[in-house]
Amino acid sequence: MNPYPNITSVRLKCACPPSCICKSSELREWSHLSCSKYSYLSAKGDIFCNQQGCKSYFIKDASFQCQQAKQNSTFYQYKSAAQFIMALAMAIQAADLTLKDNDLIKFTTDINSEVMKRWNL
Ligand SMILES: [Zn+2]
Ligand SMILES: [Zn+2]
Repeated sequence: MNPYPNITSVRLKCACPPSCICKSSELREWSHLSCSKYSYLSAKGDIFCNQQGCKSYFIKDASFQCQQAKQNSTFYQYKSAAQFIMALAMAIQAADLTLKDNDLIKFTTDINSEVMKRWNL
């Protein structure tokens, strides 16, 4: 279930972390590795799914595995707030988020400042 019903969230859609072996900047829609349900990203930088019993986690702790990484049984993480924010900016530019205009601007502003603030705590 969405643990943040009062906070804007979008489907988690971004490219693999730059360290991934695929070296692709293609946008992917991510699912939660442990339950395979769609992952969502809140404006506070938390990732969650709608599976009962699954916990949310901060983007810093998220592991990503695309098809190519799966073949090698490897996982990749974003290594810095800046790295993730850049990936997210690309996703936003591609207009792949479902938010419109003001909501999108607010979401982007909020998540940028929250992720910057929380990453190094
Ligand atoms: Zn990849
Ligand atoms: Zn889950």
